[in-house]
Amino acid sequence: MTAATDTIADYTPKVAIVTGAAKGIGRAIALRLADDGFDVVVNDIPQQLASLQELVDLIKAKGKNAVAVVGDVSVEEDVERLVAETVQVLGGVDVMIANAGTGGFGTIFNVDMNNFDRVIAVNLRGVVLCYKYAAIQMRKQKRGGRLIAASSVLGKKAVPNLQAYCASKFGVRAVSQSVAQELLPYKITVNTYAPGLILTDMTDSPKDAVLGGKHGSHIKSLFNRTPDAPDAEPPVVASIVSYLCKPEAYFVNGQSISVCGGLTMD
Ligand code: NAD
Repeated sequence: MTAATDTIADYTPKVAIVTGAAKGIGRAIALRLADDGFDVVVNDIPQQLASLQELVDLIKAKGKNAVAVVGDVSVEEDVERLVAETVQVLGGVDVMIANAGTGGFGTIFNVDMNNFDRVIAVNLRGVVLCYKYAAIQMRKQKRGGRLIAASSVLGKKAVPNLQAYCASKFGVRAVSQSVAQELLPYKITVNTYAPGLILTDMTDSPKDAVLGGKHGSHIKSLFNRTPDAPDAEPPVVASIVSYLCKPEAYFVNGQSISVCGGLTMD
């Protein structure tokens, strides 16, 4: 057997956690991973419990197990409990999708530092906490694993009036490159997805109205793109994440994969 085949054989994933799963990209990832054969723990903030429970029912209808665990990814105890409950109910963790995220616009002249801190706490600190507790568990299991987080095309090239969001998404890539190197001995890969304009609540701006009303027009204008520039639905991102979770993706590590219709190229 070759070394590559050994690496694939060590990793036979069964259980995934998806944060920020109540809607948008996280929800699509949870459903896709259930289709791929995973039992899935879905997380979001407590206010989203009803949506999480509906998602749990949809996953169970596909014949896979699912559990909702509410909690704030920026709170260390919540993330520790998320992983602990997953292990208790489903027996382990093979895949952590640190997807939860938040945003907020503002010029540097009136930047609200409470909002700045909140965006960094959810988007960056939250990813670090998800990586930490999943990695501790995966190291114990000795069967490899996948840590995957949401970056963004805005984590590769910044646009105006989104200082905190861009900083957090650049930071997610930096953390992921660092952790990917640390976890090489454990056969745990660490990658990020970097979506462009995906049609979710996050990109549904009131400022779309002044640009003709099409969902995403305001964000596209930040890239100097017209409302007709490419966009996509959440399952397009879930498809890339699905691949990264597979045994055959063992050789993709420390990468940030753009799914953006060519909005930016690197
Ligand atoms: P969304 O707003 O539709 O969903 C985000 C989910 O995260 C929500 O359900 C929200 O309740 C949850 N969440 C927020 N704070 C949380 C916290 N502290 N703890 C737990 N859950 C929390 O957003 P989306 O468009 O589906 O985005 C998902 C991820 O992809 C985010 O990290 C986002 O930054 C990133 N992303 C989105 C786009 C896009 O075009 N939609 C582009 C690039 C990156």
